[in-house]
Amino acid sequence: MDLTELFAFLSIPSVSTDPARREDVRRAALWLAERLKARGFRTELHETPLHPILYAERFVDEKAPTVLVYGHYDVQPPDPLELWESPPFSPVVREGRIYARGASDDKGQLFAHVLAAEEAPVNLKFLVEGEEEIGSPHLPPFVRANREKLRADVVIVSDGAMFAPLTPTLTYGLRGLCYLEVRLKGARRDLHSGAFGGVAPNPIQALGWLLARLKDERTGKVLIPGFYERVRPVPEEERALWPSLDEEALKRELGVEVLPGEEGYAPLERLWARPTLDPNGIWGGYQGEGSKTVIPAEAGMKLSMRLVPDQDPEEVVDQAEAYLKAVCPPATPWRCGGSTEAGPSSPTPLARPCALWPGPWRRSGEGPPSTPGRAGRSPWWPSSRRPWGRPSSFWAWGFPTTTSTPPTRSWTW
Ligand SMILES: [Zn+2]
Repeated sequence: MDLTELFAFLSIPSVSTDPARREDVRRAALWLAERLKARGFRTELHETPLHPILYAERFVDEKAPTVLVYGHYDVQPPDPLELWESPPFSPVVREGRIYARGASDDKGQLFAHVLAAEEAPVNLKFLVEGEEEIGSPHLPPFVRANREKLRADVVIVSDGAMFAPLTPTLTYGLRGLCYLEVRLKGARRDLHSGAFGGVAPNPIQALGWLLARLKDERTGKVLIPGFYERVRPVPEEERALWPSLDEEALKRELGVEVLPGEEGYAPLERLWARPTLDPNGIWGGYQGEGSKTVIPAEAGMKLSMRLVPDQDPEEVVDQAEAYLKAVCPPATPWRCGGSTEAGPSSPTPLARPCALWPGPWRRSGEGPPSTPGRAGRSPWWPSSRRPWGRPSSFWAWGFPTTTSTPPTRSWTW
């Protein structure tokens, strides 16, 4: 296989968060535009206040479906550099894998779609941004302003990970997310426990009581009234398509002995089809070395909830706030702020053409059939049905164990 083009792409240090790399990021967009032009695409580079968005289209037949491929040409910083066996922007092949920053996320996956475009009997549009690794700040307004241009029958997100090595995976749904921050107040200032312990309200203690009431310790169920009310059960036909999860391998990977979660549901269902609640941060009082007998004036926590069809993030935030208010210890002033920005879950019905997975592997007979999966990961903005108004799916080629560990990102072909 000729890797010259892919290696040229991987050699561009398009680190979107690094101001010193701004020209390199731009160079990656221009380089990709040239490659698409060479394959018969009309391209447009749309400037944003930071890194440009590349749009490209090629129409083959007005009766053919139109597919929009999303990807990103930016990468994360390569630090810590000492963990790299070879320089991050000098791609090399070792034991059948390509090692380079962005090899898996997302240049390798994206370029696979560019190569596949040569023979695709569909109308194709590419939407490629350079700010995915910094939260896609300019993509939502671009999508809103260009709905007509981006119109498609299906959206393919060219970024993701396989369920297991050599198991090509089609992700047809992502869980949604809402976020809460809770702050509890005590006295008007920090107090000394020697002088005020016994009469001073302690917001850390109140926070502990509050936290303990969020989930049932025995069943793992979230105790917020109404939380599960709208949850749509997984149809049997859908569950039958799911792969089996190697629980022992997952435990080994996480370094844990148990996989705790909601009673009555297998780990894979808890990962893909059940809503969850997790405290993500907790603070208050003295955290430094040694001791300080302080009764703090404030304590707080951050919580996230992963949502599934048909939960409504705004309704869930309201339910959570109402419950927290009801169980908050008396006379504890509190503030609660909710964010539903990340939105609802985004399932794509399995009957839609984009969710069919005979896939290139099966067709070529070179590997196992691809696996359908729901992702338990972030409701990553571009995949949401909301902006597209279209079903979307991830066609993932990244290695599951390498994509999340920055220094070892690799790509196999
Ligand atoms: Zn990515």
